[in-house]
Amino acid sequence: MLDNLTQRLAKVVKTMRGEARLTEANTAEMLREVRMALLEADVALPAVREFIARVKEKALGEEVISSLSPGQALVGVVQRELAAIMGADLGPEAAQISFAQQPPAIILMAGLQGVGKTTTVGKLAKYLKEQKKKKVLTVSADVYRPAAIAQLQSVTAQVGADFFPSTAQDKPVEIALAALDWAKKHYHDVLIIDTAGRLGIDEAMMQEIAAVHGAVKPIETLFVVDAMLGQDAINTAKAFNDALPLTGIVLTKLDGDSRGGAALSVRHITGKPIKFAGVSEKLDGLEAFDPTRMANRVLG
Ligand code: GDP
Repeated sequence: MLDNLTQRLAKVVKTMRGEARLTEANTAEMLREVRMALLEADVALPAVREFIARVKEKALGEEVISSLSPGQALVGVVQRELAAIMGADLGPEAAQISFAQQPPAIILMAGLQGVGKTTTVGKLAKYLKEQKKKKVLTVSADVYRPAAIAQLQSVTAQVGADFFPSTAQDKPVEIALAALDWAKKHYHDVLIIDTAGRLGIDEAMMQEIAAVHGAVKPIETLFVVDAMLGQDAINTAKAFNDALPLTGIVLTKLDGDSRGGAALSVRHITGKPIKFAGVSEKLDGLEAFDPTRMANRVLG
């Protein structure tokens, strides 16, 4: 088994014994270990570079240089900076869902097929209904896969929220507007719109979801990304971030065995808070995202 990063850094610190301070050489050696750990966790290279530059700057700062054990101080800097970049410095409000002053609050879900969008709609509906006491309506604008509409109907029924039916003959924008109209008439607090996902990034899909966004102006546009995605996460996140004004991220399948480097890649490219983590296939498997825990997981 690979040593985790803390163990690896400890080894470097050991060889530093006797060196009272960080030198360019031993700092570089430690940063090399950090870089390797992040690459092993599948963090995309641009995100790794940004992080290393940030740590390097801090490592040369007063606190570390003047510390009695600079090696340990550097480990502390790595842990703190990684948590900060994951969103710890955004504060706990960053993980909250915004509600419109004038209901319904609209939540638009975006992401590739298979990442867990529809499941997350069910989880969010359950959370908003039970924890926030909201009346929730869901709708599917996925007109390409009738099975997707049926799946959303099923998860919505399982959590006891309301479902607005749509068909493969409807147009996504019209579906969204009709559901909004229904939500207003029936005093729903929240409307969650599930959208079609493709297996890869697709220009027509991007235009379609951007049109839905423009028509209903959601207060939350959540990008759903699979934690197992690895290096590809950065390209997908970039495409969705360019096409839509995202307000947050949902990181799914964190119950899998990936180290979750996608979290860092997606934060790097979007700058948007990761609001929730999916931790099971079941509809109660949604947690508020915890940046510090995620930082420790990525470090291994
Ligand atoms: P969509 O195509 O983006 O709507 O994805 P689905 O919601 O249909 O989910 C695809 C698969 O991922 C299904 O088998 C889900 O049960 C599974 N899934 C979704 N979220 C999670 C999660 O947080 N953990 C695990 N283990 N599986 C999940």
